[in-house]
Amino acid sequence: MKRKGIIIVVSGFSGVGKGTIMKSLTSRYDQYALSISATTRDPRPGEENGREYFFVSNEEFEKLIKEDGLIEYAGYVGHYYGTPRKFVEDKLNDGIDVILEIELQGALQIKKQYKDAMLLFVMPPSAEELEKRLTGRGTEDLDVIRKRLARANEEAVGIENYDYIVINDDLDECVEQVHSIIGAAHMSSDRNQEFIDTIRKELNDLVK
Ligand code: 5GP
Repeated sequence: MKRKGIIIVVSGFSGVGKGTIMKSLTSRYDQYALSISATTRDPRPGEENGREYFFVSNEEFEKLIKEDGLIEYAGYVGHYYGTPRKFVEDKLNDGIDVILEIELQGALQIKKQYKDAMLLFVMPPSAEELEKRLTGRGTEDLDVIRKRLARANEEAVGIENYDYIVINDDLDECVEQVHSIIGAAHMSSDRNQEFIDTIRKELNDLVK
């Protein structure tokens, strides 16, 4: 049976460490592809165009929307973020799982369009620890940090839309948990309807 790729949506509050978990997961296991989003925000020090994001202008982003080049997009703290369509569809067709590290609004759009997508939310061990991580990153000023904490507070309302939560306390442990959850998702009965039907038909033919 050919393994079908599924979309794995990963969300979590700003500063929770989603990026680090996903980088570690994709470098450890090669059955995952990480989608690179387009955004209109400025690159942070150390970020590269085409690696963390495709950094584009507002006009370029709006053109992508018009051309149906994005499978979802949302506004976040004053900027656009969106997932390019072609990469995701190509990988899924090749049987590769695609990870989208996106926020709640985008996650809900994906859930509507791709019924077998799996939604995962990364939690901090505590709110205090989250604030510490955001402040410690040292790449954003206090105003932005405050906006991101306010957004976290809003997003906390939507966590029940996700299928699973993981707690990012120990990085290695968290990466292994994410890998196991995805492995289990592949074995759910509703993601294997075709296989179930095939075996049923074979059995039926045998007893005829
Ligand atoms: P940051 O500016 O910290 O890199 O990202 C801000 C937020 O935007 C994060 O919650 C991140 O998951 C989300 N995000 C990144 N790319 C996308 C995307 O393509 N679509 C949506 N909806 N959210 C995204």
